[in-house]
Amino acid sequence: MEIFEMDVEQTKTIPVQIAPDLAVGGQEVVLMAGPCSVESYEQTRAVAEALHAQGVRILRGGAFKPRTSPRSFQGLGLEGLKILRAVADEFGLLVITEALGVEHVPWVVEYADIIQIGSRNMQHFPLLWAVGETEKPVLLKRGFMATITEWLLATEHITSRGNERIILCERGIRSFGTETRNTLDTNAIALAKMESPWPVMGDPSHATGRADLVIPAARAAIAAGADGLLVEVHPHPDQAWSDGDQSLTLPEFSRLVGQVRRVAEAVGRSGLG
Ligand code: PEP
Ligand code: MN
Repeated sequence: MEIFEMDVEQTKTIPVQIAPDLAVGGQEVVLMAGPCSVESYEQTRAVAEALHAQGVRILRGGAFKPRTSPRSFQGLGLEGLKILRAVADEFGLLVITEALGVEHVPWVVEYADIIQIGSRNMQHFPLLWAVGETEKPVLLKRGFMATITEWLLATEHITSRGNERIILCERGIRSFGTETRNTLDTNAIALAKMESPWPVMGDPSHATGRADLVIPAARAAIAAGADGLLVEVHPHPDQAWSDGDQSLTLPEFSRLVGQVRRVAEAVGRSGLG
C-alpha cells in the first residue's frame, strides 16, 4: 500500500492540549465518542466502559439538547453533567458536552473538559463571547447552513475574548438529498486546515444521519485531513432517546476504530489518541 505523508507545509495547525498527554491537532487522530444524549448512569457507563477498552480518551454526551421539536427529549440538564463526570472519572476519561445557552457555560466549565458549541449556535455570538472568556477548549461545530468563511469568522468571536483553544468540527451541511440527514463536506475539512490554525474534527454521525454510513464517512474525514472524529455510540441504538438512527452499537464502534486506525496510518498519522 502506498503511504502518503501529511503535507505539513500546507497546514499550520496549532495543537490544542486537552490533557498533559493528549492534544487535538498533533500527530495522533483523536476520537471523542458517546451517546447523543445522556439518558442514565447505566447507559453512559456501558458506553464509557467500551470506549476505555478501545483506548478512546474522550467521552461525549449531551445534557442540554438542541432538539428541532420542543416536544422531543431536551436532555437531563445538570443531572446529565453529573452522570458524565462520574462515569468519566471512573474510567479516567475526559468529557465533552454542549453548552446550549450562556446560562449553561458555568456548569459545563465545572463538569466538562471541552465545551461543545452546537451547529445551531455557531453564530450565537453572546454564547461565543461567554466561552471565549473561559479557559476551556471549545469545539465549534459548523452551522449546517454556514459557509466556511462564516465558520472561521465565528472563531474570532471566541478569540476576541481571549480564549485561543479552539477545535473546529465539520458535522455536515444541508443539501438537496433526502437519503441522508446532511452532507459531509470534506472540502471544508481540508480548507479549514489550510486557512486556519485550528484543529479540525469530523462528525460522521450528524453528517450522515445513518449508522450504515458512519464508518465510510469517518474514513473519508480522516483521509481528508481531519484531526479526529466525534462519533455517536449507544448500547442499544433502537432504544435511544435521540439520534438512534445514526448511533453505532458498541461492536460497530470497535469496527470503526480498527478501520480509522488504518486510514490514519495511511495518511501519515501516528495512531489514535
Ligand atoms: C450533537 O452533537 O448531539 C448535536 C446536537 O450536534 P449538532 O449541533 O451538530 O446538531
Ligand atoms: Mn446527536
